[in-house]
Amino acid sequence: MTKVQNNSVTVTKNKNLRLLSVSYTDNKHITPPLPYSKSVPLGNTTSYSSNRTNKGEQITEDELRKLKYDYKKHKCKQKVKIGEFVDRVGYCGTRCINKDQQSVEVVQGEKGGIYYANMQRCGSVWFCPDCMYKIMKHRANDVYRQLNQYKDKGKTVLFVTFTLQHKQADRLDKLHTWLLSAFNYANKHRRWTESKKNVPIQFLRSLEVLKGANGWHPHLHALFVGDKEIEVSIKTFIGLYKKKLSEYGLIINEHTVVVDKWNGKLDDMSDYLFKGMIEMEMVGGNLKKSSKGKNFFQLIDDNDIEAAKEYIKVMKGKRQYHHSKAFFNDIEVKSDAEILQDDRKVKTLISIPIGVYKDIVSKKIALHCLNEYEYGGQDRLIKLLELYDCEADIICFYD
Ligand SMILES: [Zn+2]
Repeated sequence: MTKVQNNSVTVTKNKNLRLLSVSYTDNKHITPPLPYSKSVPLGNTTSYSSNRTNKGEQITEDELRKLKYDYKKHKCKQKVKIGEFVDRVGYCGTRCINKDQQSVEVVQGEKGGIYYANMQRCGSVWFCPDCMYKIMKHRANDVYRQLNQYKDKGKTVLFVTFTLQHKQADRLDKLHTWLLSAFNYANKHRRWTESKKNVPIQFLRSLEVLKGANGWHPHLHALFVGDKEIEVSIKTFIGLYKKKLSEYGLIINEHTVVVDKWNGKLDDMSDYLFKGMIEMEMVGGNLKKSSKGKNFFQLIDDNDIEAAKEYIKVMKGKRQYHHSKAFFNDIEVKSDAEILQDDRKVKTLISIPIGVYKDIVSKKIALHCLNEYEYGGQDRLIKLLELYDCEADIICFYD
């Protein structure tokens, strides 16, 4: 099993370039920095990899670099594409916070990442692959730390999945409203609040939306924590949830609500709560598909623009993640804005005059430039800039 955690990448020049062209935003071509390798699950490159994605394949350092390069390039393209529908995703990480800036610096942060200093982040957990991944990864860790506290206290943790019957023609708006109102109905119901007085419960829920052969499939992954009696009292909640769904005329069966007890492992927890979000995003959309459908980023990759637009319209401003007040009683949690803050700059790598930078942004290659520089060094960055007729010769590189 190859498991690489937070590997900071050393930029070296590769002498074995194979000519294989990869297209940019408008079909200009550039040779990738490393030999193309056979498909290896990208789940291997993350500390949140699950056992299921590790097939025991060994990958070399070069292959790993190539995968990371391809993956990041794919994300850059996704952001440009999504930016056509959601403005702020298009400028996330590339629009200056300070409007009077005379130059833009490319810097390296203490965690090893390379980015443009002082840029706005869109913070969209639904539409931006970068912000979503950063937030989800952080939240998964928060939940894990808190659950470990609960485990030490001998609490029982239940994973409960709430779904609802859906048909091909159902609109996401309606299904989302039904799902949330049934959950909230149960959560605020007198019978449930009474039962919690006897057996206190904390909960956290995470919303996931997929689109499959049978249409939209919004569902909730929830955690319920309390003394072991919650295994009985949770039935009150589930009963109320189902009651509300049947009032909407929906069919209830054994798949409507599924309850599992947590086994205490991180992989299982993050898989359960954030799998659809983190894992699918990490593999870039196409390598691994959920049997239940595609997430937003896969819809974008597959050019299902109609579905992507419906998703954007419905999910805008919706809460992805919600928990009871005392859920995180034992640990400190950060806000989204704090999570998205850049890490401390350790080195300035490049300084770009503002005029050139604006030109780069208008040609929609700002993020691609970072990727080329990170994985191919100065030469490849210049090559890309020349390809797009940007003024590469007045850019200042620091040693
Ligand atoms: Zn963003």
